[in-house]
Amino acid sequence: MTDKTINTSRRSFVEKTAVATAGISIMPGVFLHTVAQAKPADQPVSDKNRWGLLIDTNKCQDCSVCVDACNEEHGIKSNGRPATDPQWIRKVKLRDKATGHTVSLPMLCQHCEHPPCVDVCPTGASFKRADGIVLVDRHICIGCRYCMMACPYKARSFVHEDITDQKVNAPRGKGTVESCTLCVVRVDNGKQPACVEACNAESKNAMIFGDLKDPNSAISQELKARGATQIRADLALNTGVRYRGI
Ligand code: SF4
Ligand code: SF4
Repeated sequence: MTDKTINTSRRSFVEKTAVATAGISIMPGVFLHTVAQAKPADQPVSDKNRWGLLIDTNKCQDCSVCVDACNEEHGIKSNGRPATDPQWIRKVKLRDKATGHTVSLPMLCQHCEHPPCVDVCPTGASFKRADGIVLVDRHICIGCRYCMMACPYKARSFVHEDITDQKVNAPRGKGTVESCTLCVVRVDNGKQPACVEACNAESKNAMIFGDLKDPNSAISQELKARGATQIRADLALNTGVRYRGI
């Protein structure tokens, strides 16, 4: 079996796992925060969708609701050495020197259309799904950390410690690199990412998740009506995460 075959079969496993998990039946009425444009659970990942996130920094408050929800969803805990703690999402404060205006925004993997992390990965562990979600296959990640150096957003973390109390939906491993998955298992079940759901539940409504390829999705409508910014748009990575108010 060639390296390419191995990579392809493992990726296929990751994608099929997400699709298989999508078969879990959810009671009617539970979908309080559904993704109206989510793909049917019995269909494979498709390039008919491109999942994206719009973050309105004018609504984003100086809180950590999104960070806490992400940590809870994926079983991310402090290892007692904050400098080496994994961070899938972190709050960043930006201050306009001219006006003094400050915003607090969530920074996470930007799910680039042209992801440098994928370009530099020597094993194929970093990959982008057909629907634009960028992931790491931990079975073939060798922990070289090239992707961490290539990512302009400092969005990836190296796992330094043994992982205990793993969450079923978020397999993690010491010696590998990880980053925001856009809550891929949730998305494949027609749900919002945990950060978005938590932000909305607190009535802050600073994040909109949806399909950038569907002109009728809420995110597409918002982008059309009021626009948004890509951080480091000059890099031409065509990020799936967009910001308003910066
Ligand atoms: Fe890769 Fe970083 Fe882009 Fe995410 S933000 S796709 S980790 S280069
Ligand atoms: Fe690829 Fe893993 Fe190396 Fe990142 S750390 S470049 S995912 S093998």
